[in-house]
Amino acid sequence: MAAAAFPPPPVNTIDWSNVGFRVREVNGHIESHYSQKTGKWSPLKFVTDPFIRIHGMAPALNYGQTAYEGLKAFRTPSGDIQVFRPDRNAARMQHSAEFISCPPVPHDLFVDAVKAAVSLNAEYVPPHETGAAMYIRPQIYGSSAQLGLNPPEEYMFCVYVLPTGVYHGTHPVNALILDEFDRAAPNGTGSAKVGGNYAPVLRWSERARNQGFGITLHLDSASHSEIDEFSTSGFIGAIKNGEDVTLVVPDSKAVIDSVTSDSVQELGRSFGWKVEKRSIKYTELPQFSEVMAAGTAAALVPIRSITRRVAPTTPASIASTVKEHARLSSDSESEKVTFIEESQEDAGPICLKLLTQLKAIQQGKAQDQFGWNAAVSAADGSKVEGVPSATNGNGQTVDQMD
Ligand SMILES: *Cc1c(COP(=O)(O)O)cnc(C)c1O
Repeated sequence: MAAAAFPPPPVNTIDWSNVGFRVREVNGHIESHYSQKTGKWSPLKFVTDPFIRIHGMAPALNYGQTAYEGLKAFRTPSGDIQVFRPDRNAARMQHSAEFISCPPVPHDLFVDAVKAAVSLNAEYVPPHETGAAMYIRPQIYGSSAQLGLNPPEEYMFCVYVLPTGVYHGTHPVNALILDEFDRAAPNGTGSAKVGGNYAPVLRWSERARNQGFGITLHLDSASHSEIDEFSTSGFIGAIKNGEDVTLVVPDSKAVIDSVTSDSVQELGRSFGWKVEKRSIKYTELPQFSEVMAAGTAAALVPIRSITRRVAPTTPASIASTVKEHARLSSDSESEKVTFIEESQEDAGPICLKLLTQLKAIQQGKAQDQFGWNAAVSAADGSKVEGVPSATNGNGQTVDQMD
């Protein structure tokens, strides 16, 4: 039997011009199980049922013993499929797993699982022209029944994928600083993508959204005087001095090591710009000509303004520190730094240049000078167990499925 060409074309059951962000069912996901008894992760398995059978007393459900990752796969102009920097996510998931007392997922197992999940769902990777991507969601959790607060015996590592759309244009969003709620303790879990860091933020981000703020920003929880990061993305400030550009990113121990931010920093250096990783004082905000939020979901989001609900008379305020600045405005109970005026609909030039180059590399339109992309092949799907021949979509032969 001749192998069908890989990758298969995108399915025709999805309107690819309007993919959006809802969860869509695909062929299946990848699973591996760990047992404390054997000390081993089981061979990767392809599972078509999206529902996971898990005991209601699992620490994942009761004690938040769960962590996740997020990365993307893209179709190149020639139709090939590539994953953006899976090595970085493999390392970060090991970092997160330690925080929640889960065994680390070995690097190769992680990368193999990501590639297998994409390979076996290749027809759900959106067409190149749409700019859309396949979102990849690896996850790890304590899965066996356990009442006591000690690590359980069994763990699960899964990789789900789904096609996701593009955020249209690069519309600047207004940010609100959350002073009433701290995302992470000074020596806590802020640098880990653990489930417990996200649910508590939901009601605050929802409230902010209802007040016209599309994104929320966290200061360091010890002193509320330095910038940490946005609730779901990294902070990047850009200082412009004539033709010189400096990107400034926080070096806080309480933030996620963003793969997007790291990539953008590399791109900035390749443009001849400077990059500073250091603490960023809240009062420095007016010095940035642009501010961006960096994350896998939207790549770079330009920040129009940052509002903080502090009276300009309090010592912590920018108003009482730097007095006047063209980007600063205030009323009796809040102050606001504006980077992009209301009349301007698009991102600033620094954000646009970084975003264009990042996307070009991810989508295979520009040379991948850093070696960031990992190619996905039919063989990546044939290394796993449990692949039904009818849905594999990648021309596997029965002989490959032993
Ligand atoms: C996932 C995440 C990021 C972004 O990381 P990327 O690797 O760029 O996707 C930043 N901050 C927080 C809080 C996150 O959860």
